[in-house]
Amino acid sequence: MIPVNQPLLNGREKELLCECIDSGWISSDGPFVKEFEKKFCEYIGVGYGIAVCNGTAAIETALFAADIHYGDEVIMPSFTIISCALAVMRMGAVPVLVDVEPDTWTMDVNQIEARITARTKAIMPVHMYGHPVHMTPVMEIAKKYNLIVIEDAAEVHGAEYKGQKCGSLGHISAWSFYANKIITTGEGGMVLTSDPAMAVRAASYRNLCFRPERRFYHTEIGYNFRMTNLQAAIGLAQMDRIEEFVEIKRRLGAYYREKLNDIEGVSFQVEKPWAKTVYWMYCIELAKETKLDADTLMKELGNRGIGTRPFFLGMHEQPALQRVGLFKGECYPITERISRQGLYLPSGLTLTEKQIDEVVDAVGEILLQRI
Ligand SMILES: *Cc1c(COP(=O)(O)O)cnc(C)c1O
Repeated sequence: MIPVNQPLLNGREKELLCECIDSGWISSDGPFVKEFEKKFCEYIGVGYGIAVCNGTAAIETALFAADIHYGDEVIMPSFTIISCALAVMRMGAVPVLVDVEPDTWTMDVNQIEARITARTKAIMPVHMYGHPVHMTPVMEIAKKYNLIVIEDAAEVHGAEYKGQKCGSLGHISAWSFYANKIITTGEGGMVLTSDPAMAVRAASYRNLCFRPERRFYHTEIGYNFRMTNLQAAIGLAQMDRIEEFVEIKRRLGAYYREKLNDIEGVSFQVEKPWAKTVYWMYCIELAKETKLDADTLMKELGNRGIGTRPFFLGMHEQPALQRVGLFKGECYPITERISRQGLYLPSGLTLTEKQIDEVVDAVGEILLQRI
């Protein structure tokens, strides 16, 4: 079996975890949380890091930090994880969608301006599968309309846009360290910002909005989104090797592309000239002419012991969001197409070139049987 993903935990992870247990620092009160925050925000090149319990909580915390309120609108891509829309809804705000580009699968920045209203408060670009959003136009629009830019950077640890790290391009960014991300803490997340006021608000939200001057007196509603010292121990150990992990991802990604190039009917995310992608996932889209959809190919690959995952389904097609009256009659053709024709192939850090050969050969064979 070639798994779709596998974390690499053979550095200092065990040693630092044992240190937590030996010292008794197992809650969020512990030295590793601050150390991990410092290491990660320095690596990305941002002033403050606020560690939280997962990536979804990080998005919500970033929205609170950015002062998103009831009735505000936040523009985001239709093709993303539901975490983005749910976090906005939990603020009482409204997610507003734009479609994605056909070649990078990231938000189509040309559609943003048409969706701006008097209630628009923020734009949430989601860097997709390792590839950055075209951020210059996003920042220009944000400046023109006085909007806050909240990057969802959960899939781009180490990726760059015009030589600058993703997650340092907008006003605030949200990260995930789930087990399949480029570095992991099991479950975990972080908010990064260089704005000191937003950093204070994020730290407050994650900790029930306790007030520094009067502890059990609350003037705002927060959550317990704290990261534990145990999670941070793993995160710190992962930080030792983040550059190495990014290099592995890029090497395997380049190899996949070279091999996939020879297969008709299959396309993949392009790397724009201004982008350094980190290939969080190695994704393919099946051309309509192949008469094969992602579900069928995934089943057939599964029969051959090859792990895969489907793409996101568009936010406008989610019954849970339709049920509350969102996105009525809206249609995002690129999102609809890739959510049916796209899938990701084994993408773990332990993958070998030989396994990639096996995967790509299998894809080629299955496609040939169809044509
Ligand atoms: C993984 C992911 C998240 C959510 O992170 P969790 O830690 O699983 O809550 C958010 N956004 C994107 C784009 C992701 O890929």
